[in-house]
Amino acid sequence: MESQVREKIAYLKGLASGMDVDPESKEGRLLHGLVEVLDSLSASVEHWAGSQRELEEYVSAIDDDLSDVEEFLDLDEYDGDMEETSYVRLECPRCGDTLYLDEDMIDDEGVAEVECPNCHRTITVGEPAASRPAASPQTPPA
Ligand SMILES: [Zn+2]
Repeated sequence: MESQVREKIAYLKGLASGMDVDPESKEGRLLHGLVEVLDSLSASVEHWAGSQRELEEYVSAIDDDLSDVEEFLDLDEYDGDMEETSYVRLECPRCGDTLYLDEDMIDDEGVAEVECPNCHRTITVGEPAASRPAASPQTPPA
């Protein structure tokens, strides 16, 4: 498409120079100006068409790579896996907000403490709070 435009412009240039028009006359200056504008438009179109092609190739390459990554991660299966084995779903007893506890946060006795992100209440999981040692302020030794 760009080469067709270039050909047509070259043709018009030929016509313009074949006309018996004084280059210093109003008509001559108009013709010359029009041809110059067409030339720069054609150059711009060629430039952007080239950039566009490069971008299309680049995006297509990224898309292919992304497909490989998705396949490698197998995201659907991984989601299900996380739900079952890595996270414990909790409901905050104060505000009812749903939170997810990472199993890594649970200690050897199966006890974990998590702070509700909504109301900031500390929720203890795995052991009734009453049977835990009396809460003592965490003051560092003097
Ligand atoms: Zn809460």
